[in-house]
This record gives sequence, structure tokens and C-alpha cells, in this order.
Amino acid sequence: MNQVIKKNFEIDKTKAKRLRSMGISGLFLQINKKNEQSSSKTPQNIDNLNIKEVKNIVQECQSCELHKTRNMSVFGEGNENAQIMFIGEAPGKDEDMTGQPFIGRAGQLLDRIIQAMKMKREDIYICNAVKCRPENNRKPSVDEVKSCSSFLDFQIKKVNPKIIICLGLVAAEYILGENDKLKNLRGKFYERYGAKILITYHPAALLRDPSKKKLVWEDMQIVMKEVGIDV
Ligand code: URA
Repeated sequence: MNQVIKKNFEIDKTKAKRLRSMGISGLFLQINKKNEQSSSKTPQNIDNLNIKEVKNIVQECQSCELHKTRNMSVFGEGNENAQIMFIGEAPGKDEDMTGQPFIGRAGQLLDRIIQAMKMKREDIYICNAVKCRPENNRKPSVDEVKSCSSFLDFQIKKVNPKIIICLGLVAAEYILGENDKLKNLRGKFYERYGAKILITYHPAALLRDPSKKKLVWEDMQIVMKEVGIDV
């Protein structure tokens, strides 16, 4: 039996035994179990919680089908007072194994971009539109993005960045509420969430087509000027 299922099963068995010893049994236990299941599937009102509490909810989240194939959900990490927030698409294989965003090849390229901007990863906040890995790294569906969106909205509200950089169209379409080609959306600021939004290519797109690096660098220079870093 899968270790996690086995653990939950053992916890349930212990809980049931304790309730039975208190004279509570049968139907109550079934109703209680049903309530537990539905509450773990329903995104709750998270606005008054802190980042750690919401991270714990994301770890257990079963709001969409992606929980069935994930190893770990990837909440996001970084400076909770950052001026700049990067939003990617969804965790890949390495991220799914470790629970950390952008640590695979695309993440290493993102690290180099951040360094070129004269910053460190600790200066910024990084997360994804979707917190669990879609199988075979497929693009997350609009429904999956929507089902995860309360967590992203929460992160944006808590970090309250001056600038949000959307890496790729999945994040861009959710944040802007507009669909267009990336080449038409990049290179300028939009206003959403009380922040300036900049859309640029996802680092994975740069790995596939290095000629796009120049365009991303142009976009990052717009950001650097806005936060007062010498270009
Ligand atoms: N790609 C993403 O969009 N996010 C990650 O965390 C890793 C790869």
C-alpha cells in the first residue's frame, strides 16, 4: 500500500477506535468521515490565514485531478516582502520531487536571469499558476488554473509585489484575463492586482529557442529600470 494512504488509513483506524471507546460508532463515524472528505476537497476561505497555513492546505489539496499523480505540491517560495514576483506555469519533474519551484533546467536558467538583473533568488518571490505537476509536463487546463487560482491570488495579496513577471502564457492569461500571442503581450507593463505586470517568455521556451533570450533580456531591463537597478 502507498505509504501516505497507509498512514491515513492507520490514523482513521485509531480515531475510529477512540470514538468507539467513547460509545460513538456506526452511522456517526460514516457521516464524520464523509464530512472530512468533502472539506478537504473544498477550497476554503483562506484570506485570513498566514502563508504557512495556506502552504499546508496546498500540500493536502485535492481540488482538482492533479493531486492524484503528484508527489509533492509546490507552493512557491522566496522573500515574502519582495518587490518582484515571478509566476511560472506549473511544477515540472524536479519540482514535483522536491516541493520547490524552478529548480530544474528551466529554474537554473531563471537563476541566471535573476543574477543578470543584479539580484539573488532570496530577493524575489517565485511561484506557479498551478501548484501540482501535470503529468508529462503537459500544459495545465484552464479549469486546473482556475481551481488553483485562490492560492495564487492569496500569494499576490500577501507578498503585494510592485512588479509581477508572468513567465509564459499560462500565467499571463490568468493574470491579465486576456488571450493573445506572447510576442504581442510582452515588452510593456499592464496594471492588475495593484501591481505592474510584465509578460515574458518562459525559461523553458528559451531552452527550446535561445534566440528568444535577447527579448527576455529587453523585458528584464524594463523591470530593472522600474525598480531603480542600473542597467
Ligand atoms: N516550470 C514552471 O513553470 N515552474 C516550475 O516550477 C518549473 C518549471
